[in-house]
Amino acid sequence: MLSHPPHGRTHPTISEPHMTTLPSDRPHDRVAHALAASEVTTEPAAEESGPDFDTEAHEHVSNTERLITLTFVVVPFIGVVVAVVSLWGVGVSWLHLALLAGMYLITALGISVGYHRLFSHKAFKTHAFMRVFFAIIGAMAAEGTVRRFVANHRRHHGHSDREGDPHSPHHHDDDEHGVWGTIKGFFHAHVGWFLKKREHPDEAKYAPEFVKPSGVRFVDKTNAVWVTLGLAIPTAIGSVWGGLTDGTWVTSGVLGLLWGGIVRIFVVHHVTWSINSVCHLWGTRPFKSGDHSRNNAIFGVLGVGEGWHNNHHAFPYSSRHGLRWWEFDAGWVVIRTLKALRLAWDVRVPAKERLEKARG
Ligand SMILES: [Zn+2]
Ligand SMILES: [Zn+2]
Repeated sequence: MLSHPPHGRTHPTISEPHMTTLPSDRPHDRVAHALAASEVTTEPAAEESGPDFDTEAHEHVSNTERLITLTFVVVPFIGVVVAVVSLWGVGVSWLHLALLAGMYLITALGISVGYHRLFSHKAFKTHAFMRVFFAIIGAMAAEGTVRRFVANHRRHHGHSDREGDPHSPHHHDDDEHGVWGTIKGFFHAHVGWFLKKREHPDEAKYAPEFVKPSGVRFVDKTNAVWVTLGLAIPTAIGSVWGGLTDGTWVTSGVLGLLWGGIVRIFVVHHVTWSINSVCHLWGTRPFKSGDHSRNNAIFGVLGVGEGWHNNHHAFPYSSRHGLRWWEFDAGWVVIRTLKALRLAWDVRVPAKERLEKARG
């Protein structure tokens, strides 16, 4: 499984030469202007679009099959909503919903802005203490260490939807087409890939900067502490709030742990995994990315910007994933805010000509 594809990119896309940094004056307008001025081109978008690749090869995935795939993801979310409604006043209240939403937002941004955009793609630069902060709130999502995440993710980009991609939903065996093949591919990309016996990517090759000692390395080595902290915070808030308002110290604390800790981890996990599964199966492809990545509006919003995944594969180095004004990208809002506060700099977005060239 470690062999390189005949035409594949064999190295992770961690930096791109043709980029631009945002000017301090109204950067949003510049990108919006660049997008407005873009036009369809038949020319491949150079190295950003990857090697020659038959992007029509998986058009056999019918709408019915995509609907089945989406159902697997959406139904559990509906189940959580039904659980909230049916348990209202008994096992859930506004406090618990706030703990769920608040802890979700913090840890999902830890993964998106920290683990993904900052650590995996170097999409912007920030202070050492901010790197440690993002490593901690990312670790609280219980998705493992920065080093392992970065190595797997850079390998995903290096082999996207080809042999060597750790979590592509697309299989290359002819007998795995059709509905069953799609379900198997979806399951593999969503959760199956890390349940299977497999080799971890070479971290010294894919994530060398996280092998040597640093603040982020320290957070990695103490990962269990931060996962526990992510459970302790909603427990403590739930307990203190319930104890002071109606004396339910223990009950409210346990419910804080349940909603702000355990249910929140469930939601963060499935949204993250859906980027790997759903966003390589179901959605639109405005850019030629050389793989099957897709923009999916549901996960664009739920995934704090991560679901604009075709944009991301076309421009992996970009801090901004939602490239059009209506593509809401909470992670980009955070990065722009950090930039305004001088806590982020060298914020990278695609240059105008790159956007135009990569249009599908
Ligand atoms: Zn992807
Ligand atoms: Zn990426």
